[in-house]
Amino acid sequence: MKKTELKEVTCCDHCGKETYVTACMCCGTEHCWECRKTEGKEYSHGVNFSGSGDGYYCSGCDAALTKSGGDERHAAYRAVASLRHEADAWGTDFQRRQKAAEARVEALRHNNLGNRPPREAVEKT
Ligand SMILES: [Zn+2]
Ligand SMILES: [Zn+2]
Repeated sequence: MKKTELKEVTCCDHCGKETYVTACMCCGTEHCWECRKTEGKEYSHGVNFSGSGDGYYCSGCDAALTKSGGDERHAAYRAVASLRHEADAWGTDFQRRQKAAEARVEALRHNNLGNRPPREAVEKT
């Protein structure tokens, strides 16, 4: 038996591939997951966890909305994004200081030339 089926498929607006797509929240342009990386910006809805494909804006809309600042939702996503950056920067700085502090202890904790020499050193003399 032969039959012709009419089925609706989603295709990427950028590369044309028939695949799962995510739509720009502003203009509705749909991009596949590969094009999302280069053709738009994905925003997270949480500072401490990554979103699940929500908050997607194509590059054009992202730039335009960032410039105008007139879109409430885009501004809200950007506020979360900026806090994420802050948290990342803070985390990096914290790690740097943590490593430095630990290295300092590591360098000194086996140092027998400190104020109180270890017991063995005292007994030998
Ligand atoms: Zn694509
Ligand atoms: Zn768009």
